[in-house]
Amino acid sequence: IIQLYVPLNWFGTYYRAIQKNFVDMENMFDLLREEQEVIDAPGAGPIIVKRGAVQFNNVTFGYLPERNVLKNVTFDVPAGKTVALVGPSGSGKSTIIRLLFRFYDVETGSIVIDGQNIKTVTQESLRRSIGVVPQDTVLFNNSIKYNINYGRLDATDVDIINSARGADIHERILTFPDGYDTEVGERGLRLSGGEKQRVAIARTLLKAPTIVLLDEATSALDTQTERNIQGALHQVCANRTTIIVAHRLSTIVHADEVLVLKEGEIVERGTHEQLIGQEGVYANMWKQQLENKENSSVESSIEKST
Ligand code: ATP
Repeated sequence: IIQLYVPLNWFGTYYRAIQKNFVDMENMFDLLREEQEVIDAPGAGPIIVKRGAVQFNNVTFGYLPERNVLKNVTFDVPAGKTVALVGPSGSGKSTIIRLLFRFYDVETGSIVIDGQNIKTVTQESLRRSIGVVPQDTVLFNNSIKYNINYGRLDATDVDIINSARGADIHERILTFPDGYDTEVGERGLRLSGGEKQRVAIARTLLKAPTIVLLDEATSALDTQTERNIQGALHQVCANRTTIIVAHRLSTIVHADEVLVLKEGEIVERGTHEQLIGQEGVYANMWKQQLENKENSSVESSIEKST
């Protein structure tokens, strides 16, 4: 009994960790049926995603009945376009991502992909069509190759290497003691945050989904890592419908549309240029960010000189 109980309990904890932090184990769901809160509709068929157009129609949602976290959220992401979500902490950005992956069902309104309400299709097919690059990627205690291969189990070695190249991590892997066979994770070689995110990108490139959800790392990265990540992100978003919880200017500037969230509502929308011109919430956020940056570069130059 104890042997059975421990792993089940572990999965329970793990499932909640997935919901909360978006641990990128899309396929873990097969193991987690018991824990699912969202249930497939009777007779639900697979989603058919061809172009990957995403629509949120008047979506209202709360984790707890007494408090709505999203209020009447409406937006479109045309096939192949990129939408960036920005806004203060707690404004509902990650919730939008979680709802699209159907960790929870919306209260009112609908989320529609290529004309199909995601409530009416199987979760398994939905999650197969969507790639996720989370902020913190958890690696398996296994080889680096296994960790990339996980994106598509029938991939060949050539596919794996090509994905690693696309994610700008191939050269780095070649410097590891056993190359692609190097053990990584808690018990193996520890990778940096930027490296882990590139592994997640390689995995997603291998999976080749039509829709990509991306939670950009907030942590400060050095310039070279930043450049590697940007290149990799560019690869993974190219020709795919992309929704990004964005923290970096370079990402936001390249987005087709920026949605500014505040307390669960979209308060401004437009391109970076348009929003700067409006001198509203977004323009203010921007000003503040620039000031912080100046302060921190002053601090770092002080550090260097002492
Ligand atoms: P951040 O930039 O800090 O990640 P966010 O804009 O992504 O913030 P969300 O994570 O979407 O914000 O959270 C929106 C609101 O929902 C917050 O007030 C948060 O406390 C609440 N919330 C998030 N997850 C849960 C949960 N599992 N149960 C209850 N409330 C939650």
